[in-house]
Amino acid sequence: MYSTLPNPGRTYKNNIVVSYYKMVSLKPTFYPILQTMTDYAELLKQLQLQVDSLQAENLELKRSQRREIDSRDINDAASEMLRINQLRYRTIFENSLLGNKIIGSDLKILQVNQALVDMLGYQSKNEITGKIIIEFAHPDYAGDWQILQQRLWSKRLPSFNLETRLVKKNGESIWVNVISMLFRDGNDMLGFTTIEDISDRRSEFDVLRMREENFRTITNIIPQQVFTAAPNGKLVFVNKQVCDYLGSNDAEIIQNGWDESIHPEDVEKCRAAWSTSVQTGKDFTIEFRLKNEQDDYRWFLGRATALRNDEDSITLWLGTNTDIQAQKDNEHRKDEFLSIVSHELRTPLTSIKLYNQLSQKNGSPEKQAEFTSKSKSHIIRLERLITDLLDVSRINAGKMTYNIETFDFDKLIKETVDSLQLLNNNHELVVQECDPIEIKGDKHRIEQVLNNLILNAIKYSPDATQVIINSKVISDSIIVSIQDFGIGIEEKDLTRLFDRYYRVDNSSMRFDGLGMGLYISAEILKRHNGSLWIESEPGKGSTFNFLLPINGERNLTVVDTDNKTFYSANFIEVRYNEEKGWLETEWLGYQNLESVKKGCMAILEMVKAAKYTQILNDNTLVRGNWSEAADWGASFWFPALREAGLKQFAWIYSPSAFSRLAADRSVQTDLGDFQTHFFTDKESAEEWLGRQKMFDRV
Ligand code: ADP
Repeated sequence: MYSTLPNPGRTYKNNIVVSYYKMVSLKPTFYPILQTMTDYAELLKQLQLQVDSLQAENLELKRSQRREIDSRDINDAASEMLRINQLRYRTIFENSLLGNKIIGSDLKILQVNQALVDMLGYQSKNEITGKIIIEFAHPDYAGDWQILQQRLWSKRLPSFNLETRLVKKNGESIWVNVISMLFRDGNDMLGFTTIEDISDRRSEFDVLRMREENFRTITNIIPQQVFTAAPNGKLVFVNKQVCDYLGSNDAEIIQNGWDESIHPEDVEKCRAAWSTSVQTGKDFTIEFRLKNEQDDYRWFLGRATALRNDEDSITLWLGTNTDIQAQKDNEHRKDEFLSIVSHELRTPLTSIKLYNQLSQKNGSPEKQAEFTSKSKSHIIRLERLITDLLDVSRINAGKMTYNIETFDFDKLIKETVDSLQLLNNNHELVVQECDPIEIKGDKHRIEQVLNNLILNAIKYSPDATQVIINSKVISDSIIVSIQDFGIGIEEKDLTRLFDRYYRVDNSSMRFDGLGMGLYISAEILKRHNGSLWIESEPGKGSTFNFLLPINGERNLTVVDTDNKTFYSANFIEVRYNEEKGWLETEWLGYQNLESVKKGCMAILEMVKAAKYTQILNDNTLVRGNWSEAADWGASFWFPALREAGLKQFAWIYSPSAFSRLAADRSVQTDLGDFQTHFFTDKESAEEWLGRQKMFDRV
C-alpha cells in the first residue's frame, strides 16, 4: 500500500546546516530538504583553481627571488612574467564576487578582497586584516566555525563547508556560505577561504524549513495519527502518534506501511479504498481496526485528502487516523441498552394486553375485577420504568428539580411500606424501629429512594420472606436501613452499583431491571447532603443504608480546641499523645464530604503548628459513605501533610466496606518517602508507629 520516498541525510546543529565532504569526492553528500542551495562542487572547483593559481604564483615569486639573489641580475622577461602572474592572481582574488581571505597559521587574516570588506560593511581592508574571522561571526554560530577550523588546521579535514552567520559593522547579521581549505606556501601553511552572502536564499530556506518543522511539531502535538503519502500512494511521513501506537519507528513504518497491523477482516477494504482514491484523486475515508503494540485492536477512522498544485496535479496526500473506539463502544452500549429497554417495556405491556383480552372475553364482573387488579401491578411497573428513564435523562441534563419542605419522615416510611406491602404478598415488610422525626427535604423524591431500595430488597431475595426496615435518629441525621436476606453482593461490585446502568453480572440475567434505581437514589441523596452505602455478604443478604441530615445540612460543631494539641468536635476527636509523641485522630460516626474536609483541615493546621511527624488515625467508629472525599484526600490533603513535615500515617480501618474502599482510594498517589499503613487493630498500628520512630532516631 505504501513505500518510501528518498530521505536526505542531514545534520542540524544550533540551526546551522553543516556539511563535510572530502576534496576527492567533491559531490556533496548533503542536500538540504530544499533544492535551492549553491552547487558546492562548482564552487569548490573554482576555489581549487584560485588556490592552484595562488600556489603557482608563490612558486614563481620564490624562484625569481632566488634568481635575483643569486645573480643580482634582474632578468626583464622573468620580471615581466612575475608581474603578469601577480596580476592574474590579484585579479582572481580581488575581483571575485565572493569574499576571499587568506589567513596564517595563527588564524589572523593576511589578505582580504574588497568583496569581503563590502560584505562586512567596512570601508577599508585595513579594518579587517590582522583580525581573526571568528571575531566577525555571530556569537551563536562562532563555536561550530571554530571547531571546523581546528579540525582543518589539525589536518583532520581537508576542507570544510559551512553555512553560518556574520555580523556586519552596523550590527546587522547576514547568512554566509563559507568554504575553507589549506595550502602550502613553501614551509608555511596558509588558509584560503571564500565567503558567499546567502541571506536571500537562506531566508527562503528558513521559512520552508520552519514550515516543515512546524508541521512536524503540530502533528506530534495533536492526538491523531497523521501521515503523508506521495501521489502514487506510498507513505512519506508518519507522526509520533503512529510510531507510538504501532510500537515501531518511522523509517520502518514508511518502508513497510501498516497493512500487517490492520484487522484481517478490514485489510482488503482498506487496500481497495486507498487504491481507488489514489487512482481517482477522491478523498479517502474508511473505518478499520488497527492493532497496537500490545496486540489489541482499536477502531480508527482513516481519512486522507489530496493536496494539489496550480496545475491541479496531486502533490501530496495528507491523512489522519482518528481513534473512534470510545464512539464504537458507546454505539454498542446504546444498541444493547435500547434492546434491554424495549424488552423491559414490552414485558409488562404484553401482560396488560393479555389481561385486557381476557377481561373482554370473560364478562363476569368478578373476573373483570380480578383481571383489572392483575394488570394494575404491570401498569405500575411500566410507569416506574418510564419515570426512571425520564429521571436519568433529567439528572444528566442537570434538570432534576427538588421541592424542599418539612414533613413527617416516620409517617412517610409507614405509608410507603404499607402501599408496597399491598402489592407484594411474598415478603413481609417489617418496620422494626421508626423514630418520629420531622425532616427537611423533597418528600416525593425521598419516597422514590425508599421505594427503590425496598423493591430491590424484595426483588433480589426471591427465596426470603422478610425485609427489615429501620429508621433511627443519630445526632443531626436520620439513618435508614433496609435489610434483605437475598443473593447479596460481592465487595468488588459495591462501589460500582451507583453507576448509571450498572448491573451485577450474575443477577442481570435472572432479574429484570435497567440499573437505574440506585443511580437515581444516590443522586437524590447527594442533593440532600446525604449518602448511601451498603453492607452485604454474598448468599446471605444485603443492608442498604442511607443518611439524611435532619435540617438539610450537617450540624458539625466544634466543642473546644487550642488548634495545636487538641480539637474536640461532634464528628472527630484529635489529641496529641504526649507519652507516645504522635497525634491521635478519632473519627466519630457518620462522615460525609463536609465532615471529612472540616476534620482534615483542622488536623493539617495542627500538624503545621506543632510540626508533628506521626499520626495515628482511627476510623473504627466511622460509619457511612464518605467516598466523595477520597479523591480530595489523595490530591490535596496527603500531599499537604507531607509538605508540612509529616512522615508516617497509621490508619485503622473502619469495619464498613465503603469506608475501607474510600480509605484505599485516598492514598493512591505517589507520596515518595511519606508512609501510610493500614491496620485492623490499634495495637499493630501503635507498634508500627513506635518502630518507625525508632528508625527515624537511628
Ligand atoms: P436494577 O435493579 O433495575 O438492575 P438498580 O440500580 O436498582 O437497578 O440496581 C443495580 C444493581 O445492583 C442490580 O442490577 C443488582 O445487581 C444490584 N442490587 C441492587 N439491590 C440489590 C439487593 N438488594 N441485593 C442484591 N443486589 C442488588
